[in-house]
Amino acid sequence: MSQDVLQTPIDYLKGVGPNRAALLRSELGIHTYQDLIHLFPNRYIDRTQFYKINTLERNNAEVQIIGQITDIKEVGQKRGKRLVATFRDETGKMELVWFRGQKWIRERLKLHTDYVIFGKTNLFNGVFNMPHPDMELKTDFDKSLSSAIQPIYPSTEKLSNRGISNRAMCKLMEHLFLQMGNKFTESLSNEMIEQQALISKKEALLNIHFPKNQNLLARAQFRLKFEELFYIQLQLVYKNLIHKSKIKGFPFETVGTYFNEFYTNHLPFDLTAAQKRVMKEIRVDMGSNAQMNRLLQGDVGSGKTIVAFLSMLIAIDNDFQATLMAPTEILAIQHYNGLKPMCDAIGLKISLLTGSSKTALRKEIHTGLEEGSLHILIGTHAILEDKVQFKNLGLAIIDEQHRFGVAQRSKLWNKNSSPPHVLVMTATPIPRTLAMSVYGDLDISVIDELPPGRKPIKTVHRFDSNRLKVFGFIRDEIKKGRQIYIVYPLINESQKLDFKDLMDGYESIAREFPLPNYQISIVHGQMKPADKDFEMQRFLKGETQIMVATTVIEVGVNVPNASVMIIESAERFGLSQLHQLRGRVGRGADQSYCILMTSHKLGNDSKTRMETMVRSSDGFEIAEVDLKLRGPGDIMGTQQSGVLQLKIANIVQDKELLSLARTWAKNILKEDPKLSLHKHLPIHTTYVQMGKYKNIWNYIS
Ligand code: ADP
Ligand code: MG
Repeated sequence: MSQDVLQTPIDYLKGVGPNRAALLRSELGIHTYQDLIHLFPNRYIDRTQFYKINTLERNNAEVQIIGQITDIKEVGQKRGKRLVATFRDETGKMELVWFRGQKWIRERLKLHTDYVIFGKTNLFNGVFNMPHPDMELKTDFDKSLSSAIQPIYPSTEKLSNRGISNRAMCKLMEHLFLQMGNKFTESLSNEMIEQQALISKKEALLNIHFPKNQNLLARAQFRLKFEELFYIQLQLVYKNLIHKSKIKGFPFETVGTYFNEFYTNHLPFDLTAAQKRVMKEIRVDMGSNAQMNRLLQGDVGSGKTIVAFLSMLIAIDNDFQATLMAPTEILAIQHYNGLKPMCDAIGLKISLLTGSSKTALRKEIHTGLEEGSLHILIGTHAILEDKVQFKNLGLAIIDEQHRFGVAQRSKLWNKNSSPPHVLVMTATPIPRTLAMSVYGDLDISVIDELPPGRKPIKTVHRFDSNRLKVFGFIRDEIKKGRQIYIVYPLINESQKLDFKDLMDGYESIAREFPLPNYQISIVHGQMKPADKDFEMQRFLKGETQIMVATTVIEVGVNVPNASVMIIESAERFGLSQLHQLRGRVGRGADQSYCILMTSHKLGNDSKTRMETMVRSSDGFEIAEVDLKLRGPGDIMGTQQSGVLQLKIANIVQDKELLSLARTWAKNILKEDPKLSLHKHLPIHTTYVQMGKYKNIWNYIS
């Protein structure tokens, strides 16, 4: 019933006329009572304390003062025009200043009447002033329901110019609560409330807007954050379950000859414990009736490829085909070259399909796939073309997932009557919390261990002015037989300036390292794929010692003899990119180095990025820092931002709470997949409301 009340348009609330309603809608997206109730304060201020004017000492302090306006005048001309009021208490005087909305404010200010003002102070020419104070008549202040802990609501410039100050917002909230009475029903189960010692929904909403004390405020925040995260997780876990029950996969029941033959006689090394664990997870998935939909996260060099290959062997042992799709031609070729000898060793047929595959080869591939004589297809986007049809595709693996969209993923599915198992591999570690929020509907495996014997890469940060020393270092390493990467930023391949930087850099390196003693390769995005590949191959074979490149080498390329990675203008790269690039070295037995070159002018974030890279080689730790610096929206792109627009929880700060919420969601759905038990009624009702009103918070019933 109160759900209906909550859907009342905001226009009907006392204190909201058509003008204000329009503003609330356009500025804050508040359409209904419901929306207003879920406008949570950004922060709170302790308003028990009052200041006297003669005790003000700091600039920029937030203070609350009682006093009277004794004089108002307009000063300045045109754009500098402002409204200035003299404000006095018994100890002195100061100024209140408005740069905008002067007319509206002037009409309403009362002279010689007690006001409580609140805001930030500025010291100017020996006099304190307070621009755009929050103010309320003392008589109203005394009467108001609001407590000493004052919420500060999100606002916009337009709102404050039009007189919808924070005070006004608090007032609206008061009207709303008076009008609603106590008609908020519980949206979590008793079980949860008891076990987590949560306060009730009613109490939480009241205390988030009108905190009685710090303790209740903290409990209100905890309860609402938990609830928000819980319902997001419930949705994701539920989706995952539906998916599993609806989409039947092919159960791969046997682990047969190919797998065993390869594992016993041809595996070039022992699997790490993490690789074994992940293999087990994948086998369980593929062995069940449900379609596998798994994300495999593993730092660069953690050995995802062998896991992919072993998984493919299981598919083939069950008479299915497998495919591996890479984001670039170079990577596809590399996978092909790496896997071909292994396939040959056990008598499997493997082919490579890219945009530059010749027609004759394509035809051969198409036939092989349709007849089922071709077991494994490696390739790029070319695999997605309609002409590519499998006899029975059992497993599709996507490498470096973030480069492919969801649409492409589903295109792979449609290559069969029934969708193949899907394994998505990414070397861009996504912090657990973020992964849980964004990929909560995928199952996640993590390889969190590098193969043994790797020497940690030494990472240093050098300024451009040290370039000569760096060149000296390069020369020494080349003398030892090592190879060097020098990477330039080319964020946007069409940016002429970046291209010029790259070419200038190349020329100066060519001068410093002249022929015939030195051979230099160059690879960039404006080259033809065949030319790129030619240069990559030269470097791979050791015919060139230096590879000058843009970020095209970012992902996956494997040249074990390369031991130095120099990143030019490193401040222009994001953390995850820097980490990816660094992962190109340290693949062989030699000590490897990463040198981050920057200019002297560095912002705070850039400094943090450099320090993080120098300090840590743990992709997950780096990803956490990245998340803190950039926020979840930037990391995942706009596509997923919906999931991340939390109203009160923060997936960076509240990660423990997120795990807790996910555990609850999982356990509840495990016990009661349809939420039909009586004790889950509040959850069921809320869940249904959520679907109806879409917004995660539009659901109090
Ligand atoms: P990534 O996870 O970045 O794709 P790769 O699969 O390319 O990593 O593996 C990186 C290197 O480590 C390869 O040369 C691979 O042969 C080697 N490797 C993988 N697993 C192991 C292991 N368990 N022991 C030793 N070397 C391994
Ligand atoms: Mg890889």
